[in-house]
Amino acid sequence: MSMLNEGRPTRPIEAEPDTAADTFTGNRALMIDEPLVFEIGDTDQCGVDFDEAPEGESRIGGLERNRPIGLAGLSEPQTVRHYTRLSRQNYAIDLGLFPLGSCTMKHNPRLDEKIARLPGFADLHPLQPVDTLQGAFEVIYELAVWLMKLTGMYGVAMSPKAGAHGELCGILAIRSALEARGDMREVVLVPESAHGTNPATAAFAGYRVENIPATAEGRVDLEALKARLGPDVAALMITNPNTCGLFEREMKAISDAVHAAGAFVYCDGANFNAIVGKVRPGDLGVDAMHINLHKTFSTPHGGGGPGSGPVVLSEELSAYGPLPFVAKQRDGSFRLIEEENAAEIHPHGFGRMAAFHGQMGMFTRALAYILSHGADGLRQVAEDAVLNANYILRSLEDVLDAPFAASGPCMHEAVFSDAGFAEGLTTLDVAKGLIDEGYHPMTMYFPLVVHGAMLVEPTETESKGTLDTFIGALRSVAERAKAGDESLHAAPVFAPRRRLDETAAARNPVLVWKETEQAEAAE
Ligand SMILES: *Cc1c(COP(=O)(O)O)cnc(C)c1O
Repeated sequence: MSMLNEGRPTRPIEAEPDTAADTFTGNRALMIDEPLVFEIGDTDQCGVDFDEAPEGESRIGGLERNRPIGLAGLSEPQTVRHYTRLSRQNYAIDLGLFPLGSCTMKHNPRLDEKIARLPGFADLHPLQPVDTLQGAFEVIYELAVWLMKLTGMYGVAMSPKAGAHGELCGILAIRSALEARGDMREVVLVPESAHGTNPATAAFAGYRVENIPATAEGRVDLEALKARLGPDVAALMITNPNTCGLFEREMKAISDAVHAAGAFVYCDGANFNAIVGKVRPGDLGVDAMHINLHKTFSTPHGGGGPGSGPVVLSEELSAYGPLPFVAKQRDGSFRLIEEENAAEIHPHGFGRMAAFHGQMGMFTRALAYILSHGADGLRQVAEDAVLNANYILRSLEDVLDAPFAASGPCMHEAVFSDAGFAEGLTTLDVAKGLIDEGYHPMTMYFPLVVHGAMLVEPTETESKGTLDTFIGALRSVAERAKAGDESLHAAPVFAPRRRLDETAAARNPVLVWKETEQAEAAE
């Protein structure tokens, strides 16, 4: 296998104008073509009646504003309608299946939301006196115990705020452990199929990144890894289950080889939902692993909260984990270990990952999720997630090329390639065609080791009926791509916007509205 460096196409393809949908208003039935607030509102209009400000001395001196701020004024109904209309142009897990592979977009149980919104949790302030925070500390502590139990690990750092942040935490703990041994090492090994955050984390922590190739069946090449290991290697960052949707069966042998070379095993645990309750990464020789609470334990991205990336650590690495953390005292109460009191309990912590204790709302949701599922329920989450992904894989492998179909059952996600599409038709066209079918597209052009990759993760929360409809939609679009149906280049034709240059938008975001420039551009 070799890396596909071409990635996804970055330029938009010129879409044909769709005259059939021309209306006086520009709206399409109940889909309203929504202008910007600056275009609806007026700068000398205001949605609220303020009394005239009394004359008086300014108390902010030279900082006083000397010209109008230029914000558009809108009435309350205008404002409400504007944002409601915009929200209807969005796709969300509460609208339908969200097959975005690697992201684990699953239903977010309302029970978790209800618990997180209880005022005792929702209205907490991190600077409250410690004796008023005992309930919050108990939630953090209980969740920490569950995460250690489920992973078979010795310790856990709760404060990292996302998966990538957790990776950095784990790599910094590894660096501290190596420094303590007086063993400075320079290289972090990363398999070709890794998520982009892995090499980015290693580079950010000051390491040189080297790739380890994958075998033809989509797993880490153990022989190539062994050949590269040496006294300059600090760690291997491996994802298991990996991003080709496969379990790394040789994980124990991989860990043993890495340890024999004096290095550490960092596991990217973003895919933990496929093995939770079935496999304990600690038993496989993992030294550090982040868990994306917002993937495995509900609350997907945009589904009610931010991310949270606790990192479970081995006994050796736990000594270097960050401050602060919550400790349980003999009388059952909880204590916060911070810089002021860490000297005797935790003298070697490498520092802090965040100002405070982590994402409290996510901790509450994750603990509610875990307690409402129980150990047996979590095991069933993994089993159903894997079953659903295999159902997708086997239902579509006759129409879409499935490069690893022969490598055995997939884990929680199925990967397809663009092999067999007619000349000129691409994965991008298929993804855009799926939008017309009413779906957010699957992950495209990742993993990089698969040409024109399509990574589909159905998750365990979808019913067979929902999966069948999705399979029918993807089958229909894939058949069009194989038959050379050029009309796919124009897709999506039913969406409020057609093909946008997403790369340009991300690289050169235009975040400021300038009336004059817009007017000039229109001339
Ligand atoms: C999501 C994901 C990450 C990054 O997690 P964030 O919470 O988005 O920072 C890392 N690795 C893999 C495999 C992922 O799926």
